[in-house]
Amino acid sequence: MNRSSDLKGRLLPVRIYGDQILREKSLPVEEINEEIRGFVQDLIITMYEKDGIGLAAPQVGNNIRIFVVDPEWYRTGKKNPTVFINPKFISMSGVDVQEEGCLSLPDITAEVKRADSVVIEAYNLEGKMMRYEATGLFARAIQHEYDHIDGILFVDRISKLKLLSLKWKLKELEKHKDRNGVNIDTYFTDKENDIHRDT
Ligand SMILES: [Zn+2]
Repeated sequence: MNRSSDLKGRLLPVRIYGDQILREKSLPVEEINEEIRGFVQDLIITMYEKDGIGLAAPQVGNNIRIFVVDPEWYRTGKKNPTVFINPKFISMSGVDVQEEGCLSLPDITAEVKRADSVVIEAYNLEGKMMRYEATGLFARAIQHEYDHIDGILFVDRISKLKLLSLKWKLKELEKHKDRNGVNIDTYFTDKENDIHRDT
């Protein structure tokens, strides 16, 4: 359980399908200050603790244009998170269809068509503009997380037939609001521990 002990931060509750914040377009970060750096540490800790390979700020209730991705850590055991602040796609190419999951959609997976390669620019935590050329799972995770900051979920990108087959499950997810009307993942925490490719 202490596999994230080398990182500082706290575990944040993850918002679940049905929560309005997952559907909103996130706002650009205006200044990369201590508050933002602290938040990103929390986001990274939460991604690892939830066994995700990516996590976007709106998934923990913060509508700002930040996400983190680490596509290989669960396989290699090495944690190497990449932070994307105010990201912008420069190009996309190729087509790839793979199964995806999402920490905000526990127990749901479906095939999603994405670009196979992307070039993206984003600020890092030091406020430096970085450029990444990504392919395969890294490219897929980036596209999935980028969707989150635009209020898009992977179920918006699947076939109508598949969506129909998930209708009942999605309705179940929507039901689990807390007394503030927020869909958080406490109800699902035990179930999702064995899902390793969720973002
Ligand atoms: Zn997701």
